[in-house]
Amino acid sequence: MIRKDYNTMILNRIEEQFNRVLPLGSMVSWASALAIYLSPIDNRFALYDALIGMLFILLCIFKNRLTAELKISITILIPIVIGVLSFMDGGFDSAAIQLIMLSNVVAVLFLSRKKSAVVAVVSIGVFIWLYYYSHGHPVDIPVKSGVALWFIQFIVFVFYLAVLHTVVYSIRGYLLESIEELQDSMERIFKLAYYDQLTGIPNHFYLDKMLLERRHQYKRGYLMIANIKNLNLINSVYGEDAGDEVLKEIARIFGMEVQKDELLSRISGNEFSLWFFAPDDEGFLRRLDALRMLFDTEFYLPRVSNKIEFNIGFKSHDGTCTLQETLHHAKLALTYAKTTDAVSVVSYDATMEENLKKDSYLRKRLDDALEDDVFEVYYQTKVDPLTGKVISVEALSRWNDTALGSISPNEFVPMLEGMNRADKFGEIVLRRVLNEYGRLCDKYGSHISVSVNISPSHLISAGFVDFVHSAVTASGVTPHKIIFEITEAVMIENFDRVLSIFHTLRDIGIKISLDDFGSGYSSLNYLAKLEIDELKIDKSFVDQIEINSRIDSMLDAIMRLASDYKLNVVAEGVETKLQYDKLLEVGCNEIQGYYFSKPEPL
Ligand code: C2E
Ligand code: MG
Ligand code: MG
Repeated sequence: MIRKDYNTMILNRIEEQFNRVLPLGSMVSWASALAIYLSPIDNRFALYDALIGMLFILLCIFKNRLTAELKISITILIPIVIGVLSFMDGGFDSAAIQLIMLSNVVAVLFLSRKKSAVVAVVSIGVFIWLYYYSHGHPVDIPVKSGVALWFIQFIVFVFYLAVLHTVVYSIRGYLLESIEELQDSMERIFKLAYYDQLTGIPNHFYLDKMLLERRHQYKRGYLMIANIKNLNLINSVYGEDAGDEVLKEIARIFGMEVQKDELLSRISGNEFSLWFFAPDDEGFLRRLDALRMLFDTEFYLPRVSNKIEFNIGFKSHDGTCTLQETLHHAKLALTYAKTTDAVSVVSYDATMEENLKKDSYLRKRLDDALEDDVFEVYYQTKVDPLTGKVISVEALSRWNDTALGSISPNEFVPMLEGMNRADKFGEIVLRRVLNEYGRLCDKYGSHISVSVNISPSHLISAGFVDFVHSAVTASGVTPHKIIFEITEAVMIENFDRVLSIFHTLRDIGIKISLDDFGSGYSSLNYLAKLEIDELKIDKSFVDQIEINSRIDSMLDAIMRLASDYKLNVVAEGVETKLQYDKLLEVGCNEIQGYYFSKPEPL
C-alpha cells in the first residue's frame, strides 16, 4: 500500500520534472533538426528530429490532460522510435540496442514489475525483428566458430537485458526504501511540529498552516478561542498532572462537537481554538450551547472538583478579510474578555483594538508606578457616631499618573490583580501604613486603629502571613491596632484556605473586617463560620436608607446578627444627616463617609 503510494509519489515527481524539461527537450530537438539540415548529413535525420521536437511540443500543450504514465510511455517510445529509425537508415548497430536498453531502464524505474517485464518481452521481439531486417548488414560482434551469429547476438542481448532489469530494479528498491524511511521520519517530524504532544490535537503551527491552505474552503464560519480561566488554580491545587488530565479531557470534549472539515487546535498552554461552520451568530451560539451541555454531561475527572471555566473570544468570518486577520480579531476579543472579566463570551468589534491599546498602556504605566513606588496613601476617618471621636482610619491608595492623571483604585487595584502584582502592591501599602502609624497617632491619638484593604490574591498568596508577621513585628506597631479589610469575593473559591489564614492573622493579633458587606454574595453563610471582628456595611446599602423604607428592618437584623457574633459594625459611604441619624438610631458603632470627612493625605 505504502509502496504503491511512493510509486505514485515518484511518478508525480518525475512528471513535475518532466513538465519542466519538455520545452527544453523540444528546443534541443528543433536545434538538432536545424543543425542536421544545414550539415551534409542525410536530411531525413533532420525530419526525424523535427518530428520528435513536434511531439515534445504536443506533450507540452496537453501536459495537464495526459496522465503521467502516458507521458512516460511516450518517452519510452521515443528512444525505440529513434532506434528503429537509426537502424533503418544506418543499419543494425550498437546505438539501436542502447536505445532499446535505455527504454528498458525507464520502464523498470517507473513501471510496475509486470509492465516492465512486458517491455522486456517486446524489446526482445523488436530485437529479433531488427535482426532479421538487418540480415546481410555488417556487424561487429565477434563470431565464435560453429555457433550461429544471430544466436550469439540474441544471447548477449537477452543477458544484458536481464542484468539491466535486475540492477535497475534493485536500485529502484533501494530508492523506495530510502524514500519510505525518509517519509517515516517526515511523518514523525510533522507530528512533532504540528501536533500537541499532550492532547494529540493540532497545535498553533498547524492552525496557521490550515488557515492558509483552507482559505477557499473556510469562506464563511466562526473562529473562536477559548481560554481556561482556572487552569492555574487547578495546577496549583491538584498538581500539574491533574492539569494535564483536564487539558486532555477538554480536548476530547471539544473534539466531540467538531464536525467534518472543522478544526480544533490547542494554540497555547491554556488556549484552544475552534473553527466552526455556522450560518450566523445564532447558529454559532447554538454550537456554544451544545459545547456547554457537553461539558456539563461529559466532563468527569474524579480528582478535580472545580467546574471548568472559560473566557471565549470569537469573530465571524465572511471572507472580507484573511483568516489570519480573523484569528487576530478573535484573539483580541479573547483578551478583551479576559481583561474585563465581566462577560466570558466576547464577539470582536472594531473598537476593541483601540481600547486594548489604551488598556495595555495603562498597565505599562501601572507597572512603572509600582516599580517607582509613586502611590500615595490617604486616610479616611471612621467616627463614633455618639461622641464624634475618630476611632480609626482606613488607608486608601491613590495613584496620580503624570500622563494619565488621577486613576481610581477601583480601576487600578483589579488591574494589579490581573497582572499578578497585587501582592507586591499590597506589601508596599502595608509597609507604608506601618511606617506612618506613628504620625497617625500624633494626629488622632494613640488609641487610633488603622484599616488596610487587602486584595484577594495577596491574601491567599503563599508568603502572605509570613510577610505580615515580619513586617508588623519590624514596625513595632501593636497588632491589635491593625485591621485588614477583606471582601467577600475571595471566600467563594478559597473558603477553607481563607479560614485558616484568618485564624493565623487573629493569632498574631490583627483584626479582620468584612468589607462591602451586603453588596454581593450570601454573606450570612460565611458569617457563621468565619472568625472576624467587624462588618462594614456597603455604601449601596447605606444609600437605600433614604429611598427604601424596608431597609430599617434589614439594618435592625444586621445589628442583631452583629451583636450575636460580637462584631463591630461600620457603615461606609455615609453622606447625609438622615443616613447618619438612622445609623445612630440602629446602634451602628462607627461611621465612615463624606458626612464626616473625605480621604486625606496625612
Ligand atoms: P473600599 O475599601 O470599600 O473603600 C471605600 C471607598 O468608598 C473609598 O473609595 C472611599 O473613598 C469611598 N468613600 C468613602 N466615603 C464615601 C462617601 O461618603 N461617598 C462616596 N461616594 N464615596 C465614599 P476609593 O478610595 O476610591 O477606593 C475604592 C476601593 O478601592 C476601596 O473600596 C478598596 O476596595 C479599593 N482600594 C483602595 N485602596 C486600596 C489599597 O490600598 N489596597 C487594596 N487592596 N484596595 C484598595
Ligand atoms: Mg475598605
Ligand atoms: Mg467598602
